Amino acid sequence: MSAVPSFTDTLIAWQKRAGRHDLPWQNTRDPYRIWLSEIMLQQTQVTTVIPYYLRFLERFPTLEALAAAPQEAVIEYWAGLGYYARARNLHRCAVEIVAVHAGKWPKSVDRLASLPGIGRSTAAAIAAFAFGERAAILDGNVKRVLCRFFAIEGFPGQASVERALWARAETLLPECDIEAYTQGLMDLGATLCSRRKPHCNDCPLQQACQAHRTGRAEDLPTAKPRPALPERHGHYVFVSDGHRVLLERRPAHGIWGGLLVPPEGETAAVLARLGISDASESPLGTLRHSFTHFRLTLSATLCHIDAPKAIADPSLCWIALESAAEAGVPTPIRKLLEGIAPAREAQ
Ligand code: SF4
Repeated sequence: MSAVPSFTDTLIAWQKRAGRHDLPWQNTRDPYRIWLSEIMLQQTQVTTVIPYYLRFLERFPTLEALAAAPQEAVIEYWAGLGYYARARNLHRCAVEIVAVHAGKWPKSVDRLASLPGIGRSTAAAIAAFAFGERAAILDGNVKRVLCRFFAIEGFPGQASVERALWARAETLLPECDIEAYTQGLMDLGATLCSRRKPHCNDCPLQQACQAHRTGRAEDLPTAKPRPALPERHGHYVFVSDGHRVLLERRPAHGIWGGLLVPPEGETAAVLARLGISDASESPLGTLRHSFTHFRLTLSATLCHIDAPKAIADPSLCWIALESAAEAGVPTPIRKLLEGIAPAREAQ
């Protein structure tokens, strides 16, 4: 694994040289301040968090002050940051540390992660920044960096991929400088290795980054697999005398709203509705077509009649075969129309 020392050492050197050093929650070992920033930064940008963080600390300067406050007061100072479960858990966590741990923060990642609202990655960040513990973080930004640098395939939310990422994150931990390394991962993911249009040309990892080398930076991490679309089936009856075809205008709403399609339904039922009893039937084929929310399999029957008959229903009309394709029919119907051989003109 030759890239490992390169990844870790390069990141540490870059963070010290070019990373962020003046955020209000940096340059402290106070787990309360570090924890508060980590919770606020979940799903929220740094620039949004800063004023909330400063205001919150003014009102609740210590863990004890937060634990002693009513939950409504905490929510009030959180208002606007969204994801209010974070604020409720923040308060519960403060109460628990004061009540159960006599106000002392546990130092191990496992014990931190057992507190309300603190996941494994947040626990690791607190342990690293407050206590200098060698602990791996793996938030969304870090997953993106690792997936790209090591060209790890698969959706990171999938359990097996996530396990592999945690294992990788553990092997990358430095022997020392855990704070600069952890901050470096956060800084790189937030600034250069952005979700869209990563700034690879400014990235210290560029040379060894597999996604960059193979031109796949924007393809990784693998997107969440889409659930399979539901399948639907529609049968269409093309009634034609070889010169014209009978089409029906769809209602304005729904699929193919306002377009012309052949009557839909079982052949016998459609012919009965149209009052046609002398058609000769032949299969016209099947097609598959994808809509945003479902896939449609279309099957079609051609019902040949000797001469078109008058139809009272105003939504139905006879259209000349050669102009039917341009008459406002959906693409799959146009393709099926192409399968109808026009009758030869009488000599
Ligand atoms: S080279 Fe590009 S894709 Fe690779 S880690 Fe850097 S910014 Fe991300």
